[in-house]
Amino acid sequence: MRGLMQSKQLLISSIIEHAAKFHGNTEIVSRTVEGPIHRYGYRELCARSKKLANALERLGCELGDVVGTLAWNGYRHMEIYYGVSGTGTVCHTVNPRLFPEQIVYIINHAEDKYIFLDLTFVALIEGIADQLPRVAGFIIMTDEADMPETTLPNAVCYETLISAESDDYKWPQFDENTASSLCYTSGTTGNPKGVLYSHRSTVLHCYTGGLVDTLGFGARDTVLPVVPMFHANSWGIAYLAPMVGAKLVMPGKDLDGASVYELLHSEGVTFTAGVPTVWLMLLQYMEETGQRLDTLKASVIGGSAAPRSMIETFQNKYGVQVLHAWGMTEMSPLGTIGTLTARQEGWSVEEKIELQSKQGRGIFGVELKIVDDDGADLPWDGKTFGRLLVRGAFVAEGYFKGEGADAFDEDGWFDTGDVSTFDEYGFMQITDRSKDVIKSGGEWISSIDIENVAVGHPGVAEAAVIGIEHPKWDERPLLIIVRAQDTEVSREDLLQFFNGKIAKWCVPDDVVFVEAIPHTATGKIQKVELREQFKGYVLPTVSAAE
Ligand code: AMP
Repeated sequence: MRGLMQSKQLLISSIIEHAAKFHGNTEIVSRTVEGPIHRYGYRELCARSKKLANALERLGCELGDVVGTLAWNGYRHMEIYYGVSGTGTVCHTVNPRLFPEQIVYIINHAEDKYIFLDLTFVALIEGIADQLPRVAGFIIMTDEADMPETTLPNAVCYETLISAESDDYKWPQFDENTASSLCYTSGTTGNPKGVLYSHRSTVLHCYTGGLVDTLGFGARDTVLPVVPMFHANSWGIAYLAPMVGAKLVMPGKDLDGASVYELLHSEGVTFTAGVPTVWLMLLQYMEETGQRLDTLKASVIGGSAAPRSMIETFQNKYGVQVLHAWGMTEMSPLGTIGTLTARQEGWSVEEKIELQSKQGRGIFGVELKIVDDDGADLPWDGKTFGRLLVRGAFVAEGYFKGEGADAFDEDGWFDTGDVSTFDEYGFMQITDRSKDVIKSGGEWISSIDIENVAVGHPGVAEAAVIGIEHPKWDERPLLIIVRAQDTEVSREDLLQFFNGKIAKWCVPDDVVFVEAIPHTATGKIQKVELREQFKGYVLPTVSAAE
């Protein structure tokens, strides 16, 4: 028997309509690329999205067309999110940190009809525009006063484009499974692959993201997503903040410690989210200047493993609760998050930090399992690790244009490429990317475990571990270190530091010091490049073994 409830389609336009009606004066505060701070409320955001929707129709954008953005977190980017997806056009957020060749590849692959870009990226796009034959025009996200001289063909000023339009616009109603936005994975090997979200998947992800034990912020909160809108829709915050009516603070292009701190402090931010490298810069700045964060209640750390020392500093020194989260672009992106249960809240500080160093519990809407190489389920005992598979209503069922099909099986499971354990509480711990685990004498060594311990040493700014070929053990770990400023930590100090913190056979065979560690466009350590850089490196333990 069919239920007798309305089958209203879940559309992104309903989020901004809701925010305009019930949180019309709640602010979106943006640090603009041009410099000044800009403020307005959700009512105006909705009205300007509608002007943009009218402009897009005038430009000939139709259901299923794709338009690209190269933009920081800011109010105009929000208008594009809603104005574009609301009309049924697909909003393709391009990660401007990718190499120019990759940007050319994905803009052409996605068949972007127009490109919206912040002033910061005009020179970048001018340099590649002749390789983008399908793009009909470039809309520069500024006003007439700041409009630059540009060689871009058909360049239009954003404010001029929308000022000619009415804010009277009725959002079209269509099938909730229609594509809404497109985001390419950073692709450490091969070309980036496109993840094509639907209106339904986005709204469902938003509902789950809003649960108190997921991100759980609300209308009393002020939220600053440091995570960019081009990194999996700022982990859903660009949709969730208007849905729940949270004040939104958009940091623009400056993500250094001082700039982020200034906004956290001056806007009374209560909730924030970002990758560990950003928090490293913030914590360093606060350490140097002796600043405190009085309003901040919680900080989400994800994208890479949150080092234990970072969790300790946030919580024990600054009183900010850490929510360690794991996810993927392919998952919209939330998968697990480390909120504690009532019983766990009663544990000792040490025990809690230990648990929070794991990536957290599965959230509703995502099924998770670990399997061995034959696909057999593995136990959740906190020790056994295996390939992590996921499925759910906001997990990709395939990549754009059918690429990477081998990551998806016939039962709908997506192979994340991560290796993890689950403990008896359902807390998952990422051991590694499957291609980064170090295979030593038939055992697996987690590079993340070693890195986490190493960054706890005060002389270490950043650490990376890769496997180096070894005649006896197949592979052994090499620790690559960027020293903290004005410190002289030695190889011996570091090797000593592992005593009692990890199993003896997991202690790296050698340590090298470098000026910088390469990162991907989403802030992850680029292990492929490090492996290339240290190809042929001879470990001191090799001669001993021969
Ligand atoms: P992306 O799609 O760029 O967000 O990258 C997803 C990948 O980042 C995952 O498959 C993991 O390898 C890694 N990742 C995300 N969050 C975490 C975390 N908390 N700890 C360890 N790795 C993470």
